[in-house]
Amino acid sequence: MPILYLEKISDGVYIPYTRVSVVDDRPADLYFDLALSELTDLGTPSNDTIVERAYREAVVRQRMHQPRFRAEVLFAYKEKCAICGMPEPKLLDAAHIRGDKDPDGQPIVPNGLALCSIHHRAYDGHFIGIDGDRKLHVRPDIVEIVDGPVLASALQSLPGTWLNHVPKGKKAPDPYRLEKTFKEYLSALPT
Ligand SMILES: [Zn+2]
Repeated sequence: MPILYLEKISDGVYIPYTRVSVVDDRPADLYFDLALSELTDLGTPSNDTIVERAYREAVVRQRMHQPRFRAEVLFAYKEKCAICGMPEPKLLDAAHIRGDKDPDGQPIVPNGLALCSIHHRAYDGHFIGIDGDRKLHVRPDIVEIVDGPVLASALQSLPGTWLNHVPKGKKAPDPYRLEKTFKEYLSALPT
């Protein structure tokens, strides 16, 4: 039976999962299992082999944490780019400060930044550095290029300014993780 599953992020904010099915129903135990539809050909969870169970759990965890991370980060950042304040959600990403594979790469708001597409790619590509005090740095060779108003306002105006649009308290970007990525930015600087 197809199900629309709504995961609550905060009051009035939900992530819809539209391809969810009931794959195992045990009325006597008042218990049922849901699965994302692409996993239903794996058989029912109660009959899973160890390998199937591990695969199912890995895919579900991955599929569910991505939209949740995005929704939580964009909500915490009031749907604005942390660097430029750009307020269009369709042009915003939830960037990881530490990537998925890093031991500190959990999909939690303190490991996230709401960034517009250009600032996300510039941050991931180490064109922009953000230190533990949230101060912005830009690769010196990029600062010196003369290439019109987009580059000038998107990147060249940033050095010496700070992240402006960040949440306060425990949702604020984690200085330890920022600093760890900032060290990577520094070591990637052209010599
Ligand atoms: Zn931006």
